[in-house]
Amino acid sequence: TPTSRVDKLLSSMGYGSRKEMARLAMAGGITLDAAPLLDVSGRIPVTPDLPERMMIDGDPVDPIPGMVILLNKPLGVTCSHKEVGKLVYDLLPTRWRRRNPAISTIGRLDKQTSGLLLLTDDGDLLHRVISPKRHVKKIYRAKLARPLDGSEGELFASGRMMLEGEDKPLAPAELEVVSETEALLSVTEGRYHQVRRMFAATGNHVEDLHRERMGGLTLPDSLAPGQWKLLSEDEIAMIF
Ligand code: URA
Repeated sequence: TPTSRVDKLLSSMGYGSRKEMARLAMAGGITLDAAPLLDVSGRIPVTPDLPERMMIDGDPVDPIPGMVILLNKPLGVTCSHKEVGKLVYDLLPTRWRRRNPAISTIGRLDKQTSGLLLLTDDGDLLHRVISPKRHVKKIYRAKLARPLDGSEGELFASGRMMLEGEDKPLAPAELEVVSETEALLSVTEGRYHQVRRMFAATGNHVEDLHRERMGGLTLPDSLAPGQWKLLSEDEIAMIF
């Protein structure tokens, strides 16, 4: 198992500078296995059970690197580190903005799209999930301005559909009609505004877009917009 200096680990989790960690420890604010930990220059094993062993100011320490967060993204928040306005990162604990490695979204949802969004500090995992080779299915519920005309399913499934301004056809996508103006669409790619542009190409308009699933993961009903949870190892494996 990897080990780390305590001050370095806590600093990388956003708790403060190494100097601040030394001061906090001296004040009794850090415990390991219920005993005060005074020497933050010592090394500890970095294992997933650390939050069960280490307390910071009376709370379990944050998860070690390698976390995956499932967020129910609300409308009106942006998947970006830079832009102005409300960001998805503002929905997580403030300290997590200072984590190193940093937490990033796994792909993006538009500002006006809601639903299942994954975030992680694991760059390898991120790339595996968004790699087109993995064909991770993303399932969206689209509410449409106009009735479906019945030809969409065949076009989307064809593997020959072109989007405006692009030179590579879209991989086959599966359409499940829910009603005249509502459908579930399963895509394996993540092109810019892909679902909206697919329906726009059929002369329709997406009024409401919500992601319900990624791979074998479904957004739980219990998670209200803006709420999130950490995924277990088993749940992470369900992405693929
Ligand atoms: N397709 C879109 O058009 N928007 C999203 O946010 C996701 C997929």
